[in-house]
Amino acid sequence: MPLRLRLTLWYSSILSVIILGVGLVIYTMVATALTRQIDLSLQSSAREIIRAISPTGGSLSLLINTLPDLERFGSPSIYAQIWLPDGKLAMKSERLLITDPLDAPALKENRAVLHEVTILGVHLRVFTQPVLNMDGKVVAYVQTATLMHTVDTTMDTLLVVLAGSAIVAVALATIVGWLTARRALAPLETITQTALQITRADDLSRRIPMAEVPQDEVGRLAMAFNESLERLERLFNAQRRFLADVSHELRTPLTTIRANVDLVRRLGGADPVSLGAIQSEAERMSRLVGDLLVLAQADAGTLPLAHDTVEMDTLLLEVLSETQVLAGGVKLGLGELDQALVTGDRDRLKQILLNLVSNALKFTPEGGRVTMGLALVDEWVRITVSDTGVGIPPEELPRIFDRFYRVDKARSRALGGAGLGLSIAQRIAQLHGGRIEAASNGLDGGGTTFSVWLPLARARSAKEESQKTA
Ligand code: ADP
Repeated sequence: MPLRLRLTLWYSSILSVIILGVGLVIYTMVATALTRQIDLSLQSSAREIIRAISPTGGSLSLLINTLPDLERFGSPSIYAQIWLPDGKLAMKSERLLITDPLDAPALKENRAVLHEVTILGVHLRVFTQPVLNMDGKVVAYVQTATLMHTVDTTMDTLLVVLAGSAIVAVALATIVGWLTARRALAPLETITQTALQITRADDLSRRIPMAEVPQDEVGRLAMAFNESLERLERLFNAQRRFLADVSHELRTPLTTIRANVDLVRRLGGADPVSLGAIQSEAERMSRLVGDLLVLAQADAGTLPLAHDTVEMDTLLLEVLSETQVLAGGVKLGLGELDQALVTGDRDRLKQILLNLVSNALKFTPEGGRVTMGLALVDEWVRITVSDTGVGIPPEELPRIFDRFYRVDKARSRALGGAGLGLSIAQRIAQLHGGRIEAASNGLDGGGTTFSVWLPLARARSAKEESQKTA
């Protein structure tokens, strides 16, 4: 069943139940009040008659001759009869044509009773009061009655009014509910249509037009949907770009290898230059595939990581000594060095440092300087790799951690990079609960500083150890 119909049905059903309840209460209250009014006047008329016929409570037969005109009692709308215990009618209102008891069963009872009776199609309410003598014997029954015609008409009118207004109210509420539900659900239809268009056209760039959606729960749904689309589109585009980059990066070495294999075949034997080119391109390709594997594993959360306690200062010195051979004309040195322990995978952490230092050396011309340092900052270890090299333009800084991103494509590639090193380093730092930041040391080749932030393990003990050894 459609939501709109369900909402409307619920709405009108609940309203009907409420209206029915209220109507019932009103009807019952009015009926009770009117009947009570009638009962009171029937009872007071009966009392007056009894007082007149049996002022002392003595034998009725003595008084019956002196009975007053019954018309005197009560209102003109009240009829009265006086019955003797032997079933004889002693007296009745003149207007009353019936000579049978108004309420025969009540004459057999020894107590006052109120009954509703219908005589010859006329609806009456009858009050029967036995008259007792001094000995407590019934000497007569006084029956007073009145037509229920007015009450019946009033109650019928009330019923018609109540039922009529209930029907009108429910009908109105149903129509209003149906229209309101349509208005409220219309934006959902827009969302559905947009989602269908996206699916049909395979176009993630479409959005739900927010101007057509009210700023309520549905609006928030539309906004959330648009945000999801935004993210999906970004991921999808990144994925596409990544695939294109991978294919491109793999094609270049493959082309070189193929060309050289052709050359070797044509020459009828292997020459050392071709073999060297084949080997270096094969190595570049296997490095690339290795990097891609690391990234894919990091993304999938399956990159195996040890949880050792690593002395970062020792690791830094190790990297420094291993990379000296690459330094060439660049001065590779050490700045501030605190002692610090970090929990993580020693090889992967070393990979971060090696990557940063080799980048720094790659992009620093001869005569420049590359400085490594380690400092404790609150609960963090900050390792810096600072160079006086070509620097990175500030507008490029936010993108250098993107996969395959290279500031100067030609030069970077010539230096052997595919633009994956920093993204891998960043992922490894993140998997250790840290991050890498890059800062430009100023324009015009002021150099670059990379800072690796890693959470400190057992900060105190590291400091204490350093104090002890000092
Ligand atoms: P690559 O393997 O090409 O070096 P990276 O991901 O390591 O890739 O680096 C991405 C890009 O960031 C590099 O191509 C280079 O343009 C820039 N970059 C990295 N480190 C430095 C640095 N120390 N000085 C200047 N540019 C750098």
